[in-house]
Amino acid sequence: MKMGLSWNGILAAYGELALKSKTVRRRFVRKLISNIETGLSNIGVKARVAHRWSRILVETEDVEPALKVLKRVFGLVYVSPYCFVKLDRLEEFIAENSVRLVEGAESFAVRVRRTGRHDFTSIDLERRLGAIVKGKTGLRVSLDNPDRTVFVEVHDDECYVYTEKFEAPGGLPLGTAGKVVALVSTGIDSPVASWLMMRRGCSVTVLHAWISGMDTDPCARKFIDLVEVLKSWHVGVDMPVYVYRHGDALKAIREAASNYTCILCKRLMVRVAEKLAERIGAKAIVTGENLAQVASQTLENLYAIDAATEIPVLRPLIGFDKDETVELAKKLGTYEISVRIDPGCSARDVCWGKPPKPVTKAKLEKVLMLEETIQAERLVEKALDTLEELRG
Ligand code: ATP
Ligand code: MG
Repeated sequence: MKMGLSWNGILAAYGELALKSKTVRRRFVRKLISNIETGLSNIGVKARVAHRWSRILVETEDVEPALKVLKRVFGLVYVSPYCFVKLDRLEEFIAENSVRLVEGAESFAVRVRRTGRHDFTSIDLERRLGAIVKGKTGLRVSLDNPDRTVFVEVHDDECYVYTEKFEAPGGLPLGTAGKVVALVSTGIDSPVASWLMMRRGCSVTVLHAWISGMDTDPCARKFIDLVEVLKSWHVGVDMPVYVYRHGDALKAIREAASNYTCILCKRLMVRVAEKLAERIGAKAIVTGENLAQVASQTLENLYAIDAATEIPVLRPLIGFDKDETVELAKKLGTYEISVRIDPGCSARDVCWGKPPKPVTKAKLEKVLMLEETIQAERLVEKALDTLEELRG
């Protein structure tokens, strides 16, 4: 951020919301504002948040910490720290701050956005302010490809001046599209899948299957760290985290199911997720599964997994190439954690239950038969007995 300018707050733009009907938009904007207020108040930042001229205006003295939060608010597309100035002082302000506004640039442009009644047009004002900056700095004006753009929003007699647009994630405000239970492992994919659902407005409840126990699982730290990153995106709404013990069931499955182990294992996870969804009022389950990324991710296998539950299993990564998932994981901050090699925990989180040749075309009758032999329903009951919410 430019040094030397004293910011009065942050101006935030929303994207897709603008396309909604008036009533829907009103509801979404209300949720967006409440998410921002809660997110800021959670880190002790005092701010006044308002909806003005299709922008979200966040007045605060703590711009730096507020900016960190706002960059992670779903529904916003960019966020800009601004200086506030009254219209009758605008030219004076630009003259005093020209050097700071274009510091480090060789060319610049002034862009004005205006609402209200004025006796000048936006272009008039751009020319006038541009001339002032040029006079003070001697820099070249470049309308097509400026190194720096000085944005000026004029609303009646209020002006907001800013030079940077920091990217925010877009999508829809968290909580406007209902709740999902996300099955999150310590791998690369499921954190990204959860994030994509958040971006579409779903609030997420995380469910993790401890293959061993939390106290004995060398990957526990990894999971906790991934959850922290997901929470940092889950701004304004609680993100509950549940775990249950999956190890005993996996042992029983493995003994009976050999190459069907992964299918029965996933079906168990999905059933626990379904029960949790019922309890908390979630309407879908989310996984990081892809199609054909590994040999076992076939339509037949996904079909057999889905047959274990009545509610939808959403797989937002289904159409992604692996490198797209990796790129997104890096951007949202989970990649480094997912590939980290903690003592006793392999980077590729190879599961001890995995058979040498997992089935690639699971048959549902065979699945059901195997589940009868191991009394899968009882395993689900036992797993549910260990279900607990992780707090803190
Ligand atoms: P990931 O990178 O998310 O681990 P993956 O490509 O390695 O996915 P699998 O390990 O077969 O594929 O897991 C498929 C999905 O099953 C995961 O994306 C996740 O949603 C769920 N899953 C796997 N293991 C667990 C676990 N221990 N706890 C909760 N969910 C899990
Ligand atoms: Mg995995």
